[in-house]
Amino acid sequence: MKIIDNVKELKEEIKKLKGSIGLVPTMGALHDGHLSLIKRATRENDNVVVSVFVNPIQFAPSEDLDKYPRQPEKDIQLCKNEGVKIVFIPKISEMYSDDKGNLTLICPPYNVVDKLCGKSRPGHFDGVCSVVAKLFNLTKANKAYFGQKDAQQLFIVKKMVRDLNFDVQIVSCPIIREPDNLALSSRNKYLTQNDRKLALNISKALFNLKKLFTQGVVDIRDLVDVSLKIMDGLDVEYIEFVDKNTFNFKTKADRDTLVLVAARVPESNTRLIDNIKLWE
Ligand code: AMP
Repeated sequence: MKIIDNVKELKEEIKKLKGSIGLVPTMGALHDGHLSLIKRATRENDNVVVSVFVNPIQFAPSEDLDKYPRQPEKDIQLCKNEGVKIVFIPKISEMYSDDKGNLTLICPPYNVVDKLCGKSRPGHFDGVCSVVAKLFNLTKANKAYFGQKDAQQLFIVKKMVRDLNFDVQIVSCPIIREPDNLALSSRNKYLTQNDRKLALNISKALFNLKKLFTQGVVDIRDLVDVSLKIMDGLDVEYIEFVDKNTFNFKTKADRDTLVLVAARVPESNTRLIDNIKLWE
């Protein structure tokens, strides 16, 4: 396995690869959620490239860029265990040689970013799309693997690929959860014991919604009320019902509905996201 920290060498090594290339973009602190993407990529491609890069331009100044968990040695070992061909772990200056305020960015349209995570994180998806586009160009990936955990990100990346005719197939991978249903996230490392207990109520509320929907409850106000009760003690930023294909808001729940939640836990003030399809 090659461990590469610069663009020049990455381009050279990519040229030498024979067969298909699968890319798994990550910010590192790899857990079983990331590993599920990497395992699928190794099953479906001749070569797998994993990028480990905490992308500064997708963080607002008030966010957790500096304290975001970093464990490069462990990540490299985990990739090695999975048979990854290249781990690309660049320094910021390799990715953004120009001054940060003076970059050409890919900015998804207002109607897809002015909701859910995009609303409270202005510029976040510009940063995501821009880095993902660079990684597509650098790795020449045939397939790229993204988790449904970041559902709005997945939707926006798929749209970018369609809108800009990138020659890459986006593979959507299911959410990996702890046995008690907490969605795996690198940010779970921030959680205190109390926070973790409270955080469980996010998935509890979502799974309960799915149950209520299968029992015939379709009124969104009713579904939100019950969910907010379950998530009492959390600072819920949003609970929204969208069409899983268009991300347009729903007026009532149906089989195409995806419910998304963002909430902060009180002690560590960690912001967590999760989502569920009401029917699949
Ligand atoms: P991140 O390192 O948080 O940027 O995540 C890198 C990729 O892993 C993204 O496509 C995420 O959606 C995906 N991912 C993160 N957590 C999970 C999870 N629990 N289950 C499935 N995919 C995940």
